[in-house]
This record gives sequence, C-alpha cells and structure tokens, in this order.
Amino acid sequence: MNENAVDLPFRTLVPWLVERYGRPVHRVALDAGSSCPNRDGTKGFGGCTYCDVEGSGTGALKSGADLARQLEVGLKRIARRDPDVGAIAYFQSYSNTYVPIARLREVLAVVEARLGSTHPPIVAVSVATRPDTLSEDALDVLAELARKTDVWIELGLETADDAVQRAIRRFHTLRDFEDAAARVKARGLLLVGHAILGLPGDGREGARRTAQALAAAGCDGVKVHHLMILRRTQMEKAWRNGELEVLDEVTYVSWLADFVELLAPEQILHRINGDSPAEDLLAPHWAAHKNDLRARLVAEFARRGTRQGSTHSPVNAAARVSET
Ligand code: SF4
Repeated sequence: MNENAVDLPFRTLVPWLVERYGRPVHRVALDAGSSCPNRDGTKGFGGCTYCDVEGSGTGALKSGADLARQLEVGLKRIARRDPDVGAIAYFQSYSNTYVPIARLREVLAVVEARLGSTHPPIVAVSVATRPDTLSEDALDVLAELARKTDVWIELGLETADDAVQRAIRRFHTLRDFEDAAARVKARGLLLVGHAILGLPGDGREGARRTAQALAAAGCDGVKVHHLMILRRTQMEKAWRNGELEVLDEVTYVSWLADFVELLAPEQILHRINGDSPAEDLLAPHWAAHKNDLRARLVAEFARRGTRQGSTHSPVNAAARVSET
C-alpha cells in the first residue's frame, strides 16, 4: 500500500516527513553508550520485564564504533539506498538523557558539528529517553540544539496504568510522563510518545487509556506496537511457563483501531508494528509485515466507518490531565 497515493484513515509518518523536510527521511541509529535507571539499581535491576539485555540497543556500541564513525557509516548506508534522502540522527538505545550534562553535550556535539555539511543532510536529531530522566539541564542543552535543527524527544509511556508500570518493572508513573511531556512542549521541541498494547493486566481499556494520555500530552508523534516476547527477557520465562499470553493479530488490530480513534486527528503515527530481529522474537509469530498490518487497520476502520480521531475528545483529554 503506497501511503502517499492513498487517503488513509490515519496520519502516517512518510508524508509528514516529506511535507516538513521536502524529501524522504531515514533514521541513522546511534548508540551513545548510555545506561538506564532500571538497570543500574537507581530504580531497579534487570530492566523492564519485556526489555532484552541489550536495552533495545542498536548494537553499534558493541561493535566498538565511536559516534562520529557510526554517523558516517549510517549516512553512507542510507545514501546508497536513495541519494536524495535526508537523515535523522537517532539516539535510540537506553535512556539518552540519563548521563552527566557534559556527556550529553559531548554526544550532541558530534552531530551538531556536522549539521549542514553532510550528505545526506541531517534534518533532525531524535533522542529517546525515559520521562523520569529528563532534567531541566538536559532540556536546556536540547533546546540550544533546537535553534539549529529539529529536535525530537521520544518518551516511553508504554501504559497509562501505574499498576501495570509497576508490574512490568518500568518504575515510572503516568504523572512522570505528563510532567516530562509538558516540559518538552514548553521548550518547543517535537514530542513522540511510545505505547505498547497487550501488556499483562492492561487489556483493551488500558490501550484506550494510554491513547487518551498520549493525546492529552499533545504528542506530535506516536509509536505503538503489540507486546512481543523476546529472548533473554524476564517475560520469556513467564511466557514459557504459560503465565503470559500475547495478542493475536485480529485482537491487536481491533485494539489498535480503538487506540487510533482516540488520538487527536493531527497526531502522526510513526509506527503501528513491532520491530525486532527475527532470531530474538519468541511470540507472537503473526508479526505481519508493516504494509499488511496497515491494510488490516484500514479494513477495520472501513468496517467500523471510523478513522483517526473519531472518538477523540479534547474535553476528555483535558479531564485526563486534571485527574492527575
Ligand atoms: S525498556 Fe528502556 S527503560 Fe526499560 S530497561 Fe529497557 S532501556 Fe531501560
């Protein structure tokens, strides 16, 4: 399905990127060697129960590549695929603002020094982090960079239910997310919120509450995927013991449609599917190709006669904020 040629019932990333940057844009994933308070004992040990031991990392750091080299290799790789693209320098692994400010400056300086002089051009910097590791000092540094290029902050919410957050050992709260999101927006940075549907104990209502929270926070972009069981995670054991179930594809598409209906019409869906190396994925195995899943979601909206934003209510979203 060509998302540029079809009037989809939801907003997708590629047309927005072309509109904003005047060209298709690809990510260059960078590993700054950051850590995570859920692994070093500050909040917990062992990480979130669904996170693999690499911390959803790019593997670049393991390969020993320094950042400048990672960037150079990544830019060459995307230019080989399409010479007319732009690049997003994407600090993906772990919690990238969970470092001393001097280190954050040092990391961002590697990209900043190359702005305007690379091919493909770097059009934005995207920084993934946890809501409880985004200090005002870190935001100062990021806002400074935003005077020169777009800065996206990717914040994991995953679920709006604090009890589920504790059960999956994520150890931050919805309030942490709302607070961090408001501070990102106040600095004029672009905000991308993450959600996982099908976390144990969250259910269909949980998916709906999470969508409302992401809408209320004013996320510019949303990434959502189904719960995946990966090797070397705490969930692997529970799943092997039959204590944990994952969503089948029909259920996921149905919950996803609920979720997207509750988002605001202008929010951009960066992703609706999971993405993990096949050798690490234990379940579910339906994990459809991105375009298949998109076609199924389109069909679900056609069946319902709805689209993104159909059940969105700015009033409910505002109420959601005032409850906390
Ligand atoms: S998912 Fe993120 S916050 Fe959780 S353990 Fe992995 S890197 Fe840390």
